[in-house]
Amino acid sequence: MRVAIFGTGYVGLVTGTCLAEVGHDVVCVDIDQSKVDGLQRGIIPIYEPGLEPMVKANHASGRLAFTTDAAQAIAHGEVIFIAVGTPPDEDGSADLQYVLAVARTIGRHLARPTVVVNKSTVPVGTADKVRTAIAEELAARGQENAFDVVSNPEFLKEGDAVADCMRPDRIVIGASSAHAVTVLRRLYAPFNRNRDRVVEMDVRSAELTKYAANAMLATKISFMNEIANIAERVGADIEQVRQGIGSDPRIGWHFIYPGAGYGGSCFPKDVQALARTAAQHGHQPQLLNAVEAVNAAQKGHLFELIQRHYDRGEDEGVRGKTFAVWGLAFKPNTDDMREAPSRRVLAQLWEAGAKVQVFDPEAMAEARRIFGEREDLVFCDSAFAALHDADALVVITEWKQFRSPDFARMREALGDAVVFDGRNLYDPAEIEAAGLAYYGIGRGRSV
Ligand code: NAD
Repeated sequence: MRVAIFGTGYVGLVTGTCLAEVGHDVVCVDIDQSKVDGLQRGIIPIYEPGLEPMVKANHASGRLAFTTDAAQAIAHGEVIFIAVGTPPDEDGSADLQYVLAVARTIGRHLARPTVVVNKSTVPVGTADKVRTAIAEELAARGQENAFDVVSNPEFLKEGDAVADCMRPDRIVIGASSAHAVTVLRRLYAPFNRNRDRVVEMDVRSAELTKYAANAMLATKISFMNEIANIAERVGADIEQVRQGIGSDPRIGWHFIYPGAGYGGSCFPKDVQALARTAAQHGHQPQLLNAVEAVNAAQKGHLFELIQRHYDRGEDEGVRGKTFAVWGLAFKPNTDDMREAPSRRVLAQLWEAGAKVQVFDPEAMAEARRIFGEREDLVFCDSAFAALHDADALVVITEWKQFRSPDFARMREALGDAVVFDGRNLYDPAEIEAAGLAYYGIGRGRSV
């Protein structure tokens, strides 16, 4: 099928590439000329495992094209995806300006029946706004093309996006027309062979499903962080508690890791946007507000542990200290630093007069873009290079390569011989046996 995709970010680029991979003829359109120029030359703007060779192969085969020419893309698409950003507005609600701009563009150029598929995460009711925006532009041109607007939320995880897209758990199709469902079923048939993964529903339910999924996952994280904070105070170890509860299949092992707070471009904004939607409809979302508040506090917790340690010392606390920081991305296997907990920790360390030496396997270019050059920031080539002349280590992202470091070498390198482990990667007994002081999240014995 001929597919057009508006937005060549994490969702649009991965979706377009996977659709091309199974044989569709895809045109990706973005307003960012440098991104499109780069993609045409094989430069992938994001880090996502497995993506680069797939983009290059499908581009070379002619099934995946990149353009800034919206009219050309709309003329191409039997199915037109909207996969642009929906960042938080000032009050936390989703900013729909990019989605509606695409809708108007579609209306300005559409010349035949089509199915418009919204993949961006948008508040309930947005499909109606998209439909109106397209219809108004069509009417302004005296046109009356038939078109459907479908909600098809995306559930891929950054860091695993290609695998998620090629083997989805479910494909949610929210539509009000049987024709649109048939078209999308045909489009997704290659991903839907061994069992039916398509969940058909009405448009509003599909829009809410995406927020419900992210809010549930964020709730699990904030719940564990809450229990971790209790564990810390009562002298219990959250890691043992985690083992104890995860074995219950009703609870399960996934998403019950305490840590430095959730970040990324989705959970923070989606929990807030859903809370705004609830409030706008006269419901006070007490649980969602608590999930958000717990997370906001948790992002400051690593720094509290650092302060607690240094306030016990005889010198001036954190001021003048040098911290090695391992991990800047909001989670492993991505270069994405949007809302990353590392940003809060770094800001707090800098405000307290400390210097940082940072290393992340994939997010260094993004960190340079965000922070620029500053005297209290050193970019390092490796995890161990970051330890050189540092006083303490702060681990913020759980990259696999940080899991089994040489603690003896770490002990030699760190002036104050202390590790702040924001992801509970290490066994406190093992690290303390190497002569290092250890602080984890929710590990009561260490406070
Ligand atoms: P992104 O910021 O990585 O990419 C958005 C792209 O859209 C950018 O390249 C931007 O230049 C482009 N764009 C903006 N206006 C445009 C226009 N008028 N025409 C063409 N292109 C335009 O965003 P993302 O992370 O891919 O997220 C997109 C949507 O998908 C959001 O609503 C997000 O909540 C949702 N989502 C994201 C993820 C994720 O893991 N990133 C997962 C599921 C759903």
